[in-house]
Amino acid sequence: MQTQSSTRKRLLISILLISGLFITLRLTYWYHLEQGFSRALPLASRQLEEVINFIDGALIRYESIPHVLSTNPLLAKALRHSDDHTEIQHINRYFEEIQHVTEASDIYLLNKNGDAVAASNWQKPYSFIGQNYAFRPYYTEAVAGRLGSYYAVGTSSDTRGFYFSYPIQEKAEILGVIVVKVDIADIEAQLTGLAKSGQYELAISGDDQVIFVASIESWRLKSLVPLDDNSQQIIYKSRRYANRIISALTLKPPYAPFEHSEKTPIYQIPNDSGKAQYIDTRSEMTKAGWNVHVMTPVKPLYTSLPPLLMLSACLYLLAALGLLFSLERRKNMRRMQQAQQLLEQRVQERTRELQDANDKLQETRDELVQAAKLTVIGSLSASINHEINQPLAALRSYAQNTQTLLTRNMQEKAQENLATIISLADRLAEIVAQFKSFTRKTKGQDKLTDLRVAVEDALTIVTPEIEKQQVQLQLQLPDAPLRFFGDKVRLQQVLVNLISNAITAMQHSPTRQLTITISAGEQLCIQIRDSGPGVNESQMEKIFEPYFTTSQRQGLGLGLSISRRIVESMNGSITVANAIDGGAEFKILLPLCPAEENV
Ligand code: ADP
Repeated sequence: MQTQSSTRKRLLISILLISGLFITLRLTYWYHLEQGFSRALPLASRQLEEVINFIDGALIRYESIPHVLSTNPLLAKALRHSDDHTEIQHINRYFEEIQHVTEASDIYLLNKNGDAVAASNWQKPYSFIGQNYAFRPYYTEAVAGRLGSYYAVGTSSDTRGFYFSYPIQEKAEILGVIVVKVDIADIEAQLTGLAKSGQYELAISGDDQVIFVASIESWRLKSLVPLDDNSQQIIYKSRRYANRIISALTLKPPYAPFEHSEKTPIYQIPNDSGKAQYIDTRSEMTKAGWNVHVMTPVKPLYTSLPPLLMLSACLYLLAALGLLFSLERRKNMRRMQQAQQLLEQRVQERTRELQDANDKLQETRDELVQAAKLTVIGSLSASINHEINQPLAALRSYAQNTQTLLTRNMQEKAQENLATIISLADRLAEIVAQFKSFTRKTKGQDKLTDLRVAVEDALTIVTPEIEKQQVQLQLQLPDAPLRFFGDKVRLQQVLVNLISNAITAMQHSPTRQLTITISAGEQLCIQIRDSGPGVNESQMEKIFEPYFTTSQRQGLGLGLSISRRIVESMNGSITVANAIDGGAEFKILLPLCPAEENV
């Protein structure tokens, strides 16, 4: 289940990543092109303005020439005497000179029927003289008394030109028309140079959508839209493009004339090296009847696109991976925090449990210590009874005796008896006090205690048994006090234990000798040696284990294990060994208390 959901999650992340990448690439593409266009369009508008100004400037130079020439009375004269060869020849030479000076392509004179009577190219093989130009609109305009202008391919020269015409009048009578033809090829060459340096292409089309001027040769005299038969016929009849049949350029999408286009269109147009996409920025030149197109190639915009796409993809992937990484990290941190909290909670729970267990253990240990004490007392009870009963019996007999002495008025003797009674009562109180303090449940109070006192207090409890069993006690105690720091009652319990064990061990021994020695070296040392059978070698360590006992009667097997624990809690140690002449020897080592060390 979990693997299935994690696979689904991974799949979702992959889909999101890929979609994100796709959107990023798409946005980069869009943004780059938008930026490119927003930079290219104002530039193209400036270039367009430059081109229009250039054409205007180029044509304006020639515009006034026909008007100026028409003021020459020789032209009217020549028209009146067109059959006068010398007169015409004179005009021919005059035109030739003017043509050289003005750099116009051709200058020629038409009579009122539209026949060329004189021309600057009178010597050229394509001389216009004798040709009729009545079909040309510049003729019709001029004979109507107006300045005419027109562009067309010359029917004689087959070169593209711009024509300016003006009527020749004499006393309001129009005698003919003077025409100046400007060669478009020169202007086109200069415009092409301008276009190449501005890294764009140029096209100038007329109302008939036929390109008249272009920076790319293959575009020249091609129409922007496919022409139907009717249009083709009209164009042919006008002879604007001499006798050419105009074919169309293949534009994708199809060319939209001004009125249909809302925004700057992009066209794919065939060029000298195949096809290319161009942004078409255009403007009308109403005076010349032209549409000027600045065609900005789109390719440079696309050339810088792949590295940009790569860069944006890399940045996107970096950002996405960074995001994923930080999300994963946050998730892991959260998981770790949860795990830590859980761990802390468990540790707290375990600590509490351990604390409880420890408290219980401590309680149990205290109970055991108490039980062990009571066991010793139980085993000693007979002799203790004896110890207490004896002074009690003595007390009774002394008291009776004192009564008798008092009735006999033997005051002095009675006084002595009473003193003995008091000392017996004291002795009893002392014994009872020792038992009381021994059997009391103690939490343990550490204080400085003389070892000799501890031994003597222990002996108070076991003396009745020692005496009962007729054990010979040999005490080897130092004269000066030997102090140790610890709980006296507990040490007393250890000593009572060891002594009563020794007494029990010697029960069947012919000689019953108990030696207790206290000494001090690097540590305090208490030795308790008996003349019993000693400890079986194989049981040397076992005897300190809880519940190990060989006692058939009251033994719980706890005495030695508790004794060892008590001594170790005082930072000491307890060991057993068999003496050379038989019997067991228990040795308790305790640390010297700091005060003793300093002495
Ligand atoms: P218990 O006295 O109830 O048996 P202890 O832990 O005091 O328990 O003693 C364990 C055993 O160690 C005894 O049963 C006995 O076999 C052995 N032991 C103790 N002291 C002596 C000794 N002085 N001599 C020989 N054996 C001893």
